[in-house]
Amino acid sequence: MTKWVYAFGDGTAEGTSGMRNLLGGKGSNLAEMSSLGLPVPPGFTITTEVCTYYTQNGDTYPDGLTAQVETALDRISALTGRRFGDQENPLLVSVRSGARVSMPGMMDTVLNLGLNDATVQALAKSSGDARFAYDSYRRFIQMYGDVVLGVEHHAFEEILEHEKETKGYVLDTDLTAADWQGIIERYKAVVEASIGKPFPQDPHAQLWGAVGAVFGSWMNQRAITYRRLHTIPETWGTAVNVQAMVFGNMGDTSATGVAFTRNPSTGENALYGEFLVNAQGEDVVAGIRTPQSITEKARIEGGSDKPSMETVMPAAFTEFVAICDVLERHYKDMQDVEFTIERGKLWMLQTRSGKRTAKAALRSAVDMANEGLITREQAIARIDPASLDQLLHPTIDPSAERTVLASGLPASPGAATGEIVFSSDEAERLKGLGKKVVLVRVETSPEDIHGMHAAEGILTTRGGMTSHAAVVARGMGKPCVSGAGGIRVDYAKATLTAAGRTLKAGDQITIDGASGQVFLGALPMVKPDLSGDFSNLIAWADDVRRMKVRANAETPADARVAREFGAEGIGLCRTEHMFFDEGRIVAVREMILADNEQGRRAALAKLLPMQRSDFVALFEIMAGLPVTIRLLDPPLHEFIPHGDEEIAEVAAAMGVPADRMKERAEALHEFNPMLGHRGCRLAISYPEIAEMQARAIFEAAIEAAEKTGAPVEPEVMVPLVGLKAELDLVKATIDATAKAVEKETGKTLVYSVGTMVELPRAALRAAEIAEAAEFFSFGTNDLTQTTFGISRDDAASFLGAYQTKGIIERDPFVTLDVDGVGELVKIAAERGRTTRPDIKLGICGEHGGDPASITFCETVGLDYVSCSPFRVPIARLSAAQAALKAKG
Ligand code: PEP
Ligand code: MG
Repeated sequence: MTKWVYAFGDGTAEGTSGMRNLLGGKGSNLAEMSSLGLPVPPGFTITTEVCTYYTQNGDTYPDGLTAQVETALDRISALTGRRFGDQENPLLVSVRSGARVSMPGMMDTVLNLGLNDATVQALAKSSGDARFAYDSYRRFIQMYGDVVLGVEHHAFEEILEHEKETKGYVLDTDLTAADWQGIIERYKAVVEASIGKPFPQDPHAQLWGAVGAVFGSWMNQRAITYRRLHTIPETWGTAVNVQAMVFGNMGDTSATGVAFTRNPSTGENALYGEFLVNAQGEDVVAGIRTPQSITEKARIEGGSDKPSMETVMPAAFTEFVAICDVLERHYKDMQDVEFTIERGKLWMLQTRSGKRTAKAALRSAVDMANEGLITREQAIARIDPASLDQLLHPTIDPSAERTVLASGLPASPGAATGEIVFSSDEAERLKGLGKKVVLVRVETSPEDIHGMHAAEGILTTRGGMTSHAAVVARGMGKPCVSGAGGIRVDYAKATLTAAGRTLKAGDQITIDGASGQVFLGALPMVKPDLSGDFSNLIAWADDVRRMKVRANAETPADARVAREFGAEGIGLCRTEHMFFDEGRIVAVREMILADNEQGRRAALAKLLPMQRSDFVALFEIMAGLPVTIRLLDPPLHEFIPHGDEEIAEVAAAMGVPADRMKERAEALHEFNPMLGHRGCRLAISYPEIAEMQARAIFEAAIEAAEKTGAPVEPEVMVPLVGLKAELDLVKATIDATAKAVEKETGKTLVYSVGTMVELPRAALRAAEIAEAAEFFSFGTNDLTQTTFGISRDDAASFLGAYQTKGIIERDPFVTLDVDGVGELVKIAAERGRTTRPDIKLGICGEHGGDPASITFCETVGLDYVSCSPFRVPIARLSAAQAALKAKG
């Protein structure tokens, strides 16, 4: 008989944290905490396999489940001395979902299940607190009504608001037991009117209703959207956790809270969390009451006058701190925990690995390695390279003049500026128009995910550091300020009011997710500082990686950024990018439009000194590091003048009639320029172009070496080679030019000549091509284009459909297609090495900065990856992780 149900509690458990796929994240960690002897209310987990069965079999359950649930309920009864429906000691349970990975806010929870008209009286008696008992019952009816029975939430809210208004109450806590009893009757009437039958009184029926609702919610729209955004397969299913209730709302010695074992925003090794006295579970995350700090230190830092848990519940606090320590040591990672204190007794309700900002991830990984909790290698492996992008976020220029509109909580770091929008749909629409927006909401819910994705940053007026907005924004790496209570939002008028000003949708604001401040207007930003933990971790990564990391750069500015980010050379200098410069484009056009060698040479003579000075600058900045310079590559049409004015300008410069110039421009038109007269084909037709570029490179190498005293050994790269003879021909021009420069200057040049491998034919004929090439650089942009036969420039219009239809998982222009394009890379590497065992191999397509593609490059044994300057740190970390993976 399949085991569908796993029990836990009282220091033992049938499951372990290793059974995550079966028990879900929450269930497996409850089992683990229980086995560690931590105080976990007894309960059981119904496995994800039951969810799959339920979904695939018309919402029915597998054989044997009922009996296993009954046995598990009996075990809870034995441990707690309470039974379902008992008139003296009723058992009350919580029912919660728990998928393999946490899906915040996506799935539903029911608390206080087991209450009915009879057991509520028993609860009143046993707790000695009738008010508490009836409050719990009405919460249950409300939650169950909403989540399980589908009764509109606001129907309950209205009854409660009406009661408070007529009685003149402000807070829910002002209501008496009798008030709640009256409300319960009205709630039940609402349910009956809505579903056509009374609110279920049988606890077993309540339980199966709740279990079905959790399994059913796996297929609700919010969950489906979340899974799509996070590529979580539908087949994973969710588990259901049923657990004896403990109460944080049994008076002033009870409380409930959430905490991180380290600060999830900064990574500081300090317990960080929030709690509410006399409150139940969801009150903290719902953001309705503003929570209090757990530690005194955090209270003081936050400037709160509400006492901390450390002060008001010292015994529970001490025990809690010790438990957090046990959990961190056990899991060797920052934990995010939920707890409840029932009349002074601490209970742990959940632990999981804490979601954190990139900054916190870095700091905690570096700290934990320094504390000896994990190894440096584990620290390296733990950081998601793509998340480093967050640290490259700009911050507000400290010298900027600013007008503070309001202050809230620093929920997710980074600064963002944009137009105010008040709805997620509007945020998405404006983003589609290329606008930058800041999403302003009272609070966010899972329905806002698309708006949060579209926005530069998120601002809410309600809710704490663990509110939906805060948690989700941190996960997305978006700046967020939450709980900015000084701002009043009027959705109907589409305005916000703060500090005596009223701003409309469309007005600019700036938020600082690191300080929690909100400013008027768009403030200037500055680049991030990458010292400290960042440089520490990257330095450790550098110790373990094998592949070098270079940058694709052609301007001195890019080259400098690349060096700052730790690039070990330039892997691709696209010389055509140097041609677009305003002062040069006319000369470039003259060269292209000239219809004879003499005309071309005249134009090239103008370009030579400019190219030379470009290269001198690059060589100087790179100070002896390798620099690969690629000869002219682009489709010619990119340079052809458009319109009469441009044509007239070039014609005048060349001293030819505009009509003739126009004819020549038309003659150069190509139907398929990407597969046309580009790459080495240009150098074949017009060797004088390659000659000028080679001369510029060699003269610059000599000049830079003299200036810096460091030898310069340029790598000259020929693009778009498919035939060895093409390379032979261009190489002959390069070598002849080198000889000429040596002769003229009396200096000896050290250089190498290699080729891009960016056509399938080049990959297949790599053995032969390697006879002439001293290095290969994989141009995987073109290699992807030519292997798939998909135009780089037109792919976006249909690849989206390929992804939604599941034909391809990822965009092959972003993440290398290992199976197809990757096989060609592998073939080329192997065949190239058979001819020239020490051939230098690198990659310079966009994939050189993509973590998954870098992993592949390690398996092929490339010598280096080259990527855009801002991705260099990501590539350094990815290369280290790839090396660790290869080591196994
Ligand atoms: C490539 O094709 O991958 C490459 C780096 O060259 P470009 O993008 O300039 O065509
Ligand atoms: Mg290319």
